[in-house]
Amino acid sequence: MKEVTEKQGYFGEFGGSFVPPQLQEVLDRLATQFEKYKDDPDFNREYKECLQEFVGRENPLTFAKHLTEAYGGAKIYLKREDLNHTGAHKINNVIGQALLAKKMGAHRIIAETGAGQHGVATATACAMFGMECIIYMGKLDMERQALNVFRMELLGAKVVSVDQGQGRLKDAVDVALQDLVDNYETTFYLLGSAVGPHPFPTMVKHFQAVSSEESKRQMVEKEGKLPDAVIAVTGGGSNAIGAFAHYLGESSVRLIGVEPEEAATLSKGTPAEIHGFRCLVLQDEDGNPAPTYSMAAGLDYPGIGPEHSHLKTSGRAEYHTVTKDEVMEAFQLLSRKEGIIPALESAHAVAMAKKVAPEYNNEAALIVNISGRGDKDVQQVFEMFTSET
Ligand SMILES: *Cc1c(COP(=O)(O)O)cnc(C)c1O
Repeated sequence: MKEVTEKQGYFGEFGGSFVPPQLQEVLDRLATQFEKYKDDPDFNREYKECLQEFVGRENPLTFAKHLTEAYGGAKIYLKREDLNHTGAHKINNVIGQALLAKKMGAHRIIAETGAGQHGVATATACAMFGMECIIYMGKLDMERQALNVFRMELLGAKVVSVDQGQGRLKDAVDVALQDLVDNYETTFYLLGSAVGPHPFPTMVKHFQAVSSEESKRQMVEKEGKLPDAVIAVTGGGSNAIGAFAHYLGESSVRLIGVEPEEAATLSKGTPAEIHGFRCLVLQDEDGNPAPTYSMAAGLDYPGIGPEHSHLKTSGRAEYHTVTKDEVMEAFQLLSRKEGIIPALESAHAVAMAKKVAPEYNNEAALIVNISGRGDKDVQQVFEMFTSET
């Protein structure tokens, strides 16, 4: 049975919660607890302390002098989520949710992962908090990501192979949700992006918003004003919504999301329901979620967070695609010019900066969100280069 059980958690026509009644009860409880703790001074003190002592925040807003010269136009600043512990923005959210789980009395954390990045971040937080960690992963994904499976196991997580269905991420989500329904009294489902039914998109945004809270202050310190634009890549949409959050009410700041051409959910998607919420979805001719492929594993999802869907249709944010060649060029240029090897996901945002920066003069300033470091992608890029020649 599917029904809209509440008006909460909507962004325009997007978001909501379309799940079976049993699961809805669990989500309602989660929403109530999140509302309670997000303004709790003790909770926030502990969260900030973890971000500082374990994640290494705040991270810098680095002026990219040579990239600015290469692209011409606006000054380019890089928000350095790549410098976080574990090398990406995902840890901000994972620490926040794990702390909430602890407060709620759950001692068992479950999560699902496709490429393994969210699984590794979750296993990291669970090790630090001393919590039990179960990661569901499609059988096929486990074979492809053997090194990440080993990382999670090193960190003390139990990785469970899901062979039902196609043995991919979607099947792992189904198994994880069933586990939650069966064990909700002891178990917390830790979701990895600003997607899913309410309250997940709101909660993930809350924890990722630390990025723009910092960048706003840092930009004012460096330039004496707000940025002219903020550019971030969108997979599920968590690093981008975190990078945008504190600028949503600042109408002078352009918000620019970037997607791969092959997974252009916001640019080409239409409204539909997927995984228990409503958003823009890439659909095939029969109205089923279309298969997506991106060379950046973190961007391979046919849906997108509900708030981005709303920001797109309301016109507050703009979304563009970049090609694989543009991404590869940006990946190399940032490495070469700035000494920063970005994640392939983040290289999408850099590629977009090449188009945006020349629209301005050098009095303007852009923020490009470097969502993660590229060490995880170096082998893949090496193989791409060697197979071409
Ligand atoms: C997972 C990931 C992404 C995409 O996820 P969002 O939820 O859209 O942020 C982007 N960049 C990096 C480095 C990632 O690991």
